[in-house]
Amino acid sequence: MFSHILGFPRIGRNRELKQAVERFQRGKSDPAALRQVADDLKQQHWQDQIHAGLSLITTGDFALYDHVLDTLCLLGLVPKRFDHHKGPVPPATYFRMARGDRARNIPAMEMTKWFDTNYHYIVPELGEPPRLDLHLEPMLADINAVKALGHTPKPVLLGPVSLVHLAKKLSPQQRQNRLDALTEAYLAILKALGDLVPWLQLDEPVLALDLDEATRETARAVWRRLNQAGTGPNLLLAGYFAPYADNRKTLLQADFAGIHLDLVRGRDDLDPMLAALPRETTLSLGLVNGRNIWKTDLNDAFQVVDNVVARVGEQRVMVASSCSLLHAPIDLTAETELDKDLVAGMAFAVQKCAEVALLAHPASPERDRMVAKNQEDLTRRRKAGQVVNPEIRRRLEQVTETDLTRHSPFPKRKRAQAAGLNLPLLPTTTIGSFPQTKKIRAKRRAFKAGKCSAGEYRAFLEEEIRATIQRQEELGLDVLVHGESERNDMVEYFGEQLDGFCFTQNGWVQSYGNRCVKPPIIFGDVARPNPMTVGWMNFARSCTNKPIKAMLTGPVTLLCWSFVREDLPRETVCRQLALAVRDEVADLERAGFPMIQIDEAALREGMPLRRVDQNIYLAWAVDAFRLASAGVADQTQIHTHMCYSAFNEIIEWIAKLDADVISIECSRGGMKLLNAFADFAYPNDVGPGVYDIHSPRVPDLAEIVRLLQAALQHIPAEQLWVNPDCGLKTRNWDECTPALEQMVQAARQVRLHL
Ligand code: GLN
Ligand code: ZN
Repeated sequence: MFSHILGFPRIGRNRELKQAVERFQRGKSDPAALRQVADDLKQQHWQDQIHAGLSLITTGDFALYDHVLDTLCLLGLVPKRFDHHKGPVPPATYFRMARGDRARNIPAMEMTKWFDTNYHYIVPELGEPPRLDLHLEPMLADINAVKALGHTPKPVLLGPVSLVHLAKKLSPQQRQNRLDALTEAYLAILKALGDLVPWLQLDEPVLALDLDEATRETARAVWRRLNQAGTGPNLLLAGYFAPYADNRKTLLQADFAGIHLDLVRGRDDLDPMLAALPRETTLSLGLVNGRNIWKTDLNDAFQVVDNVVARVGEQRVMVASSCSLLHAPIDLTAETELDKDLVAGMAFAVQKCAEVALLAHPASPERDRMVAKNQEDLTRRRKAGQVVNPEIRRRLEQVTETDLTRHSPFPKRKRAQAAGLNLPLLPTTTIGSFPQTKKIRAKRRAFKAGKCSAGEYRAFLEEEIRATIQRQEELGLDVLVHGESERNDMVEYFGEQLDGFCFTQNGWVQSYGNRCVKPPIIFGDVARPNPMTVGWMNFARSCTNKPIKAMLTGPVTLLCWSFVREDLPRETVCRQLALAVRDEVADLERAGFPMIQIDEAALREGMPLRRVDQNIYLAWAVDAFRLASAGVADQTQIHTHMCYSAFNEIIEWIAKLDADVISIECSRGGMKLLNAFADFAYPNDVGPGVYDIHSPRVPDLAEIVRLLQAALQHIPAEQLWVNPDCGLKTRNWDECTPALEQMVQAARQVRLHL
């Protein structure tokens, strides 16, 4: 039985890739040095797979920045503005595509989230008719390198249907035309591969989405052509992140030699797939979760394997990870400080490879011993300290609909709040964070390294808060914030203070290119032993007479940006988080803070890929926000903020949050987003971002005035707030001071005409 993974993390155990890419970008190394690091990493990843005992070694999953970008380069699909005509794409051009070229004023290609993961890919631009120019040298070199090690390589390639589907907007005709051209290119690739490898993994992740019949029809035709090429390796079609569901039929009609199933997310596919599987087709069973850090229940997994083997025969079964391991950290053995009982239940990428390899073993006493050990480990993890907190379980059971509902409807609350707050029309505020300067980061590092005392660190942060408040007073903002200088990250800061969370030392996961994140782990029942923000907020208030808006991260965002335990439904974990936030909100209210913002930056991105799952998610996500926020009196004003702003289809859910004020990212679309709010007659207050904080550019007065006037076309003045698009932590003071000056000025100017 073959065993394989769909891809290995690229960054290296010590984030070598990040360092190498940054060195190169700073001009401190040359293409040869960069290539050396890449080659070493690839070798290491192959060795990891070989050592684990996998029978197919994955190639083509590595990328210096992003695998979609690599696929474009392999095909020679470089947009015109990068001025590349023929031949392999040199690293400098490659990075220019990813990051743009400031000096020459060439914008980067867009980047966006890879399905429902936190990985970001470069969005293909296929607007110009493609001038295909294949560069298969790197692909072939990797294949030969694995062969030289005496092992069987299995290259991975992103499929043509997904490549076109993920590309920037194309007309149906362009789409067809691009697909035709790409099909020819992929046929040429198959020909070049000949009988060099037994299998090629063709990734078509679009199969996780709701597709219309026309798209399916086209996809089937393209895939059939590839499968009927009569030359080249067998194609193993790989979709993941959701069940194939109603795309299954298309897939089965496309003549693939092998089909991969994500049995973590798509367990429901298995039976119908087995029932309809053509007689020759191989099934790849994705049983090891590529998106989490927990051990697989091998007992359960072997049952599936044995069952499928009994049905179709061993020759037609492969075992695999559910998706690429790109989304998991690399090696658990680097974690020396985690609780040993918890570690017993964890597996990172290297350990997942071993799990997959083991699953290909036929029954034997050795196998039984491994399974027994696995079950012991899982029990140990379940019984680890702090996993179950009876008090929290009891509290959750007692939550009722009343706990999710504010005392009075919004109009009455609005009057109560207005009386206490005394704000002008179009009140100005910010989203929460102010620049995280080098100075702040250096001080935090020193503190964490024990080179600066807690007292000194606190005094330093208080000075930062005081200065940030003073700047806001000088700018004339109406509602002030403390600036979040004490927070490294909006999830980590809270996770560190909550029971049920733990943190790895080295559990990095690639977010995009050279950027990595280290998500916290929610392993046990969440509880809040002590107030988390009240102290800093009290200090901030002591610096000013203006109203201060307190700043929290919401339950859905805490959930979405963590690795989450699998022994409870996500929805239950989210409710536990909501209770913890609710307690913090209550403490802030008791301490006299009339405005509390609960950020839900991740609410939209946490949406499942399939429409049938979306409403279920939205219902519990909205309930969690309400549980966190609805415990306050009418006079207390609840704010929320959301970044990603494709709200059109979910506006009714946004309304159900019943936040008194919502601030959203809006400036780039010229306020068009507000259409959704206007059409829905959204009743509560809205703060559409009036300038883009992602760019260092300082907006001018007239531009903001225009945007505010556009906003007033959609939203009555009584409901409108004025704020930037998002937090300012990635900007510097020289950028955000003049920008906020213009913003305040613009609000004043527009007020005069109301
Ligand atoms: N309050 C956070 C900040 O200002 C919100 C960040 C976010 O939405 N991503 O940074
Ligand atoms: Zn934001």
